[in-house]
Amino acid sequence: MFENLSERLGGVFDRLTKQGALSEEDVATALREVRVALLEADVSLPVARDFVKAVQEKATGQAVTKSVTPGQQVVKIVHDALIDVLKGEGEPGALKIDNPPAPILMVGLQGSGKTTTTAKLAKRLTDREGKRVLMASLDVNRPAAMEQLAILGTQIGVDTLPIVKGEDPVAIAKRAKTQAGLGGYDVYMLDTAGRLHIDQELIAQAAAVRDVANPRETLLVVDGLTGQDAVNVATEFDDKIGVSGVVLTRMDGDGRGGAALSMRAVTGKPIKFVGLGEKMDAIETFEPERIAGRILGMGDIVALVEKAQETLELEQSERMMKRMAKGQFNMNDLKMQLEQMLKMGGMEGMMGMMPGMGKMAKQVQEAGFDDSILKRQIALIQSMTKKERANPQILQASRKKRIAAGAGLEVSELNKLLKMQRQMGDMMKKMGRMGKGGMLKQAMK
Ligand code: GDP
Repeated sequence: MFENLSERLGGVFDRLTKQGALSEEDVATALREVRVALLEADVSLPVARDFVKAVQEKATGQAVTKSVTPGQQVVKIVHDALIDVLKGEGEPGALKIDNPPAPILMVGLQGSGKTTTTAKLAKRLTDREGKRVLMASLDVNRPAAMEQLAILGTQIGVDTLPIVKGEDPVAIAKRAKTQAGLGGYDVYMLDTAGRLHIDQELIAQAAAVRDVANPRETLLVVDGLTGQDAVNVATEFDDKIGVSGVVLTRMDGDGRGGAALSMRAVTGKPIKFVGLGEKMDAIETFEPERIAGRILGMGDIVALVEKAQETLELEQSERMMKRMAKGQFNMNDLKMQLEQMLKMGGMEGMMGMMPGMGKMAKQVQEAGFDDSILKRQIALIQSMTKKERANPQILQASRKKRIAAGAGLEVSELNKLLKMQRQMGDMMKKMGRMGKGGMLKQAMK
């Protein structure tokens, strides 16, 4: 599905991971190559640009782990950025089909693989989820398309709504709904008409069907081979009738995969499934983690870096706990705490886990504390020198002004941060003095 892109990126990273030390220039060169590789895979320019920018930012802010090479670390960052660009909300491939009978509207251009995909999904829902599915073709202009769905239905053992000549799409949709209700079906799928181009009539018809069916899912089927065009088609369909997810077909024939990479970033709609052949089971859920792994083909390195990062974090927090037990708590400690809080999704979880911090967490929350404040505080600490971080009491008014300006913030925010560090330091001292029975020491046992 991504052979060409995968090969190109493989070359870039093989070179990078073989080097022991990396200069900024090495990373910049590699990222330029990544950008070219993405563009050649027909990823849209803004998406490629944002992607490289995100990687660059993460690479600069990253704590260095001794047990992996910088090149390996860059691979991991690119891997995570790929997941970010592919990821939508919710479970991959999950369809909203509770409240039977749940309507699924299938839309797309003629030849995109809509009818095939309708049958593939019906089969999947039947085989894997034990659902009873009814399929109906609404393509009144092409009797052959209606026949095709009926034939596929017989082939996969899924019911289709009987064809009634002369009926319009809205009437068929209504009949499908009634039939699905009466027949005790879990899901009914409406395969709408396709045309070669998006035009008024196509959209008006799909919208009319949508309005009577009230679909739980509107799945747009697009031909992945058409690259950026697929993304444009998706944008237009979404604007005009609203889609809940995309199915990219013919990904078995696309070695570049650009459409898959741009789709979510450009349209905001998740790819739910990919079609990988003409056979009825040639469909897969679109799983960002797996796809990212497939594109990079460097699962070993990713796992290695993950492990090393975990170890590093563990070492850092153990070191901090030891310092805290001795009653020491400087800006480095505070920064680490703030970063961990950010990672753990806010104050509450983190502070709740530390003895004596629950109340403080509540206070800061009541004071309107949120993640943007955490980020600003981290920025402030980053503007301090090494010496100042270890010993914040040496800060003079003029330095405070510079530091606040460096982080683009007011001095008052810095003062608040300093107060927080002092208060936490005092608390650590108190806890440290509690001796052997002290809470922190207790917690460290
Ligand atoms: P529709 O006009 O959108 O309903 O398109 P069809 O479902 O009739 O599909 C058109 C052609 O594309 C058929 O020959 C399908 O077998 C083929 N097709 C559909 N999906 C895929 C896919 O994922 N991979 C490949 N290789 N062919 C596909």
